[in-house]
Amino acid sequence: MSRDKSFTPEWIDTPPPEKTYRSIFKWGAPDRVKHPSHGFYRAVKESLGLSDDDFARKTSTGEEKISQEIAPAMAAEDLAALAEIVGEKNVSTDTFSRLKFSSGKAMEDLLKLREHVIENIADVVVHPRDREDVKKIVALCHARKIPVNVYGGGSSVTLGLECVRGGVSLAMNTHMNRIIEFNETNQTITVEPGIMGPAYEEALNNAPQKFGTGHRYTGGHFPQSFEHSSVGGWVVTLSAGQSSTYYGDAYHLVISQEYVTPVGSFKTLAYPGTATGPKVNDIMKGSEGCFGVLVAVTMKIFRYFPDNRQPFSYILPDWESAVNAARNICQGEFGLPSILRISDPEETDVAMKMFGISGSVLDRLMIFRGHIPGKRCLLIGQADGEKNFAQQVKKNSKKICKNYNGMYLTSYPMNKWMHGRFSDPYMREDLNDYGIIIDTLESAVTWDNLHHLHQGVRSYIKNHPHTICMTHASHFYRQGTNLYFIFIRRSMPTRDFLTFQRGIIDQIEKHGGSLSHHHGVGKMMAPWMEKHLGKEQMAVLQALKNHFDPNRIMNPGGTLGL
Ligand SMILES: Cc1cc2nc3c(=O)[nH]c(=O)nc-3n(C[C@H](O)[C@H](O)[C@H](O)COP(=O)(O)OP(=O)(O)OC[C@H]3O[C@@H](n4cnc5c(N)ncnc54)[C@H](O)[C@@H]3O)c2cc1C
Repeated sequence: MSRDKSFTPEWIDTPPPEKTYRSIFKWGAPDRVKHPSHGFYRAVKESLGLSDDDFARKTSTGEEKISQEIAPAMAAEDLAALAEIVGEKNVSTDTFSRLKFSSGKAMEDLLKLREHVIENIADVVVHPRDREDVKKIVALCHARKIPVNVYGGGSSVTLGLECVRGGVSLAMNTHMNRIIEFNETNQTITVEPGIMGPAYEEALNNAPQKFGTGHRYTGGHFPQSFEHSSVGGWVVTLSAGQSSTYYGDAYHLVISQEYVTPVGSFKTLAYPGTATGPKVNDIMKGSEGCFGVLVAVTMKIFRYFPDNRQPFSYILPDWESAVNAARNICQGEFGLPSILRISDPEETDVAMKMFGISGSVLDRLMIFRGHIPGKRCLLIGQADGEKNFAQQVKKNSKKICKNYNGMYLTSYPMNKWMHGRFSDPYMREDLNDYGIIIDTLESAVTWDNLHHLHQGVRSYIKNHPHTICMTHASHFYRQGTNLYFIFIRRSMPTRDFLTFQRGIIDQIEKHGGSLSHHHGVGKMMAPWMEKHLGKEQMAVLQALKNHFDPNRIMNPGGTLGL
């Protein structure tokens, strides 16, 4: 059957019915959607060798109710003891709640939920009210050898939330989402870990009204999952936000942390710098719930000047010039832009279609000036901070782009990207509904190895026919950056998808990239950890695990490879 050019698949617009698989795996707010633009739909369809007919009927949508009831495998007296600590209403044992609080947002999680596979779920979900509750729960579980799996915002893409040995899923974002202290003099904020991105940033932006401060502030941390991830989750997974080039990633943003572990509770020192030996504060960042529960964290904050934003966009002739321009921006010592992103040719082509630039006058002008589709690369950026500083950073960045034969595209592509920066993940469900897999893997790399890693991983992915592989770098340092690979393929059985995904991770490892730049390790990257770190460094992590968690109850089953 042939369809006319304006054919659009029937994307799902309605919120998922309650207690369905879809209500667990759907990204973000239940009533919010963002469908692929016509340009993006066409690009996917053509690259994957599909036709409109392939979008006439959906595959499984997960809109079915979870009807199975699976009894918790926990002793009644343990359940009663937990309820005694937090109160009956803060304990749930129904299958839906247990599945919800044992699932993350990895492609594997999503595929299994669509297939109605229920495995690795907690026996009980417990919602602690404060740190005293957490202390009692962890002490009880330590004494009775009950697994404790910590749940922040639920956005893990590395199987960080699967409860492999059952036990408790400790939901941190239900009650433990308060601001504890705002210290304008030291420019810090102390919060409970379950506070979610928007509430955190909103409080900082409106600090004069909320806390009577003299200035407005920002946390400077905006992962793409910002709206649906928690501050505690950011800290323990070493997350990086889209403005990390200037503000730093979660590692740099943390001043001090308070943990409850099976062998005791402690707060790390809150100095801006100390020389008192290796820092326990650093050891705990990225610990992914394997050593203990983060119950409070003090973060650096920054003065907020939204009116001073200086966006810019360039098209560079090829990937090499884009990489060189970005490197020189970072190494120029004139200050760093907060946002900087370079897209390889394939991602640039898709972006041009998504932003509606392909085929426009601007597109023709670019081609006329020698910026050819399939070669040209997009660079977008934004400088923030004090007015003159932001202007200078933009001016110097532009000068460098020009030196690499870049053509200025005004702020349009940057603003377009900014507009969709938190909502693009909503498109994943739409594509999955028609049996198309879209997933990502990312890696840190030094400048001198960037092309080797890019080519190695890309050629592995592209060796699979009808596969889109888009790559960008989005977190910059003077010494290197990250590479973020987005791959889109036709659906396949979960087992085949996992083989393909493992193949990509093998290539990252083989070509000298880090196992993860900002998604963490979870259980997904665990099998590669010892090879990646080496026996000796892995032994240090094991020793820490043995110290903090002798009964191995904290996030058991392989998180961090432990
Ligand atoms: C669409 C999408 C986009 C994303 N974009 C980005 C991005 O731009 N940058 C980025 O860095 N990441 C990104 N991620 C990954 C994810 O959002 C991050 O890893 C985030 O930091 C996880 O935070 P969370 O609150 O959701 O934690 P969760 O997913 O709930 O938990 C993650 C891990 O931390 C542990 N944990 C959580 N809270 C605590 C606590 N209080 N104490 C101890 N352990 C705890 C959990 O046990 C788990 O192992 C993205 C994910 C998705 C789905």
